[in-house]
Amino acid sequence: AIEARGLHKHFGERQVLKSVDLTVRTGEVVAVMGPSGAGKTTLIRCLNMLERPEAGTIRVQGHTVNCSSPPDRRQRRAIRDIRIRTAMVFQEFHLFPHLTVLENVIEGPISVRGLPRSYAIEVGERLLARLGIDDTRDRHPARLSGGQRQRVAIARAMAMDPEVILFDEPTSALDPELGDALLGTMRGLAARGIAMVLVTHDVAFAGRIADRVVFMDSGYILEDHPPRVFFSNPSTPRAKSFLRLMP
Ligand code: ATP
Repeated sequence: AIEARGLHKHFGERQVLKSVDLTVRTGEVVAVMGPSGAGKTTLIRCLNMLERPEAGTIRVQGHTVNCSSPPDRRQRRAIRDIRIRTAMVFQEFHLFPHLTVLENVIEGPISVRGLPRSYAIEVGERLLARLGIDDTRDRHPARLSGGQRQRVAIARAMAMDPEVILFDEPTSALDPELGDALLGTMRGLAARGIAMVLVTHDVAFAGRIADRVVFMDSGYILEDHPPRVFFSNPSTPRAKSFLRLMP
């Protein structure tokens, strides 16, 4: 589970997050939707402290970062703890091009979690098999399809044994069939108790995977409902007009 309270984030003069609260429980999937520039990507980057909010708290599994505290040793440690427990699957996957698939997957466990190499390999191979890409083990990312690259990125996230996985636009590079495969993978992660947050413009996918849809506009969360409620009966005029424009 992850709990964010009162997140504020500016870029220069522009306030991109305005007192955002978000809790995602164990095994729950939350889709963050909203117009371009609403602050969706910034929110998930703040949840794992890739961006540092100016104020607010983030709590993951008993580790709390208070963003307005001075970045002393204790806070730096808390930030590190949160980063380890919140993995991110980027839209462009951000795989290391010079490493093989298996090397991509075991890099974090070895360098960040300090696992012995042999154990990291064992875990990595198991994850590749579970995701159905064990045959890509020794290939480089450039020689993979988009769907395979995404599964490597998911395997790399899972190898960190995270509490939470954050996805930025996970279906944007996938054809519909791969979208189905991703749905199955994400349901499997939820069944293992991983909390997930995805930023998406894909109404069909959000409707199938999400337990809740959070609607953002101008740095605020305006709605937080189960998908069937949000898509059929949004409560704010802003969400109604947003949904009218969606395909
Ligand atoms: P989209 O759907 O287009 O991806 P979004 O809701 O994810 O949009 P964000 O990417 O969070 O929106 O951006 C929110 C606002 O913050 C935008 O106005 C954007 O230009 C600005 N912004 C984002 N990152 C930075 C940055 N690193 N420096 C300056 N401004 C930024």
